[in-house]
Amino acid sequence: MRRFDLHTHSLQSDGTLAPAELVTRARAAGVDVLALTDHDVTDGIAEARITADRIGITLIAGVEISVTWQGQTVHIVGLNVDTADHALQQGLARLREFRQWRAVEIGRRLQKKRIEGAYEGARRLAKGTIVSRTHFARFLVEQGYVRGMQQAFKQFLSSGKPGHVPGQWATLDEAVSWIRSADGQAVVAHPARYKLSAGKLLRLFGEFRECGGEAIEVISGSHPPEATRHFARIAAEQDFLASAGSDYHGPEKTWMDLGRLPDLPADCIPIWRDWEQVESPLAKIAAGGLS
Ligand code: AMP
Ligand code: MN
Ligand code: MN
Ligand code: MN
Repeated sequence: MRRFDLHTHSLQSDGTLAPAELVTRARAAGVDVLALTDHDVTDGIAEARITADRIGITLIAGVEISVTWQGQTVHIVGLNVDTADHALQQGLARLREFRQWRAVEIGRRLQKKRIEGAYEGARRLAKGTIVSRTHFARFLVEQGYVRGMQQAFKQFLSSGKPGHVPGQWATLDEAVSWIRSADGQAVVAHPARYKLSAGKLLRLFGEFRECGGEAIEVISGSHPPEATRHFARIAAEQDFLASAGSDYHGPEKTWMDLGRLPDLPADCIPIWRDWEQVESPLAKIAAGGLS
């Protein structure tokens, strides 16, 4: 059985590995089909594809779009997106503009708490185009303001804390429509991570479907095992396709390493069921595609 990991990050967003390194590590860890899904940017895809083609791993072009839904941040992953699509790139560019403004604002707010040079520090630690709260967290750890990443978020960067800047990312409808414009499939990322009541989560899924969303992440490296059973049932009941991704950010301590994802529960329909590029050679011969 082929191993899929459909949610990972490179240093083009808040991961720590270059796209080529990520692909190489994924291959070594036994992953057959890998999606690179950086936050609000697709800059790493071209580099990842060159390495993937060279070493024989299937690369899926992806992105993880930041969305504000009912005042909360929700992440929507797009898989198999055409990275040249104009609507997608224009939408992502708008989110990156907001990100840039927000990064300066985070720096300003931290300065009021006597933390100097946070914006410059986060910018220095960010190796790609976007500055994420992750880079601020790494800066706070590096400078000794906090003991670890969790504390950085808890004390400074999560909602309601001094370095948290509220704002409007994409709407759910925009994110899904950009992904669809780019011929991709939209997936609700790590649904167990949102602090939403069961009823509100179902509303999110309902609106997501109305917008044209197709799948939910049943398996996520940032989910506890019981969440997998829960969301497998919801996917089956509500006819969503199921996706699986580690949400890998690099070899430092993370929720989950590459190549360690469990199989999807049997009652799930995998999002890759109809993907041509992952058809087995036998299926291709049966379809007359290989001679
Ligand atoms: P941003 O999109 O810039 O708001 O940053 C969100 C990113 O911060 C997520 O994608 C995670 O990688 C990271 N993150 C959020 N909460 C935590 C946490 N408690 N500990 C570590 N990383 C976190
Ligand atoms: Mn992240
Ligand atoms: Mn996410
Ligand atoms: Mn992610």
